Amino acid sequence: MKIGILALQGGFAEHAHSLTRLGAECFMIRRERDLDREMEGLILPGGESTVMRKLMEDLGLLSGLRQRIADGLPVLGTCAGLILLAEEVEGGKACLATMGVRVKRNAYGRQLGSFHTEENFQGIGRIPMTFIRAPYIEAVLGEGQILARADGRIVAVQEGKQLACAFHPELTEDLRVHRYFLDMAGGAL
Ligand code: GLN
Repeated sequence: MKIGILALQGGFAEHAHSLTRLGAECFMIRRERDLDREMEGLILPGGESTVMRKLMEDLGLLSGLRQRIADGLPVLGTCAGLILLAEEVEGGKACLATMGVRVKRNAYGRQLGSFHTEENFQGIGRIPMTFIRAPYIEAVLGEGQILARADGRIVAVQEGKQLACAFHPELTEDLRVHRYFLDMAGGAL
């Protein structure tokens, strides 16, 4: 299985590491022609969503990515990647806007900017969750299904073949969220 990872900024290498450990192939997406490569899934990593949005615009990647996702390419967005997918962004601008959620950027304030916890993820069980200046999902606007909450806040949603997490599964040794994504991309879910 081949997965493209948006590699303009942020935690793309960590996602590549998780996928490789699961035996999936991956390649980096840095320019428009990379979108022509065959892929069965796409990852939008964590990082800084404002910087990624700007680079996507400057490099002409925005409409191609939006189109691929709209056409049904399975996608996993983590943290900033979730913000890029969200239709509504409080404290920022919408980018791809393919997923019917409203997110709040930097939602946990300074004190709780970064933290680690363990919560239930539907279909997987209890998993470690690392949050870094994370958003949370304030509301599901469309048909999305809530897969996880932490401290009462929605932190993972799946809408069709779009999966988004406010935390960073690529920063833990636990590979179950990536496995879930590969199953989803391969049509098992
Ligand atoms: N705070 C970042 C943003 O708004 C997201 C943080 C992250 O991806 N770890 O884009």
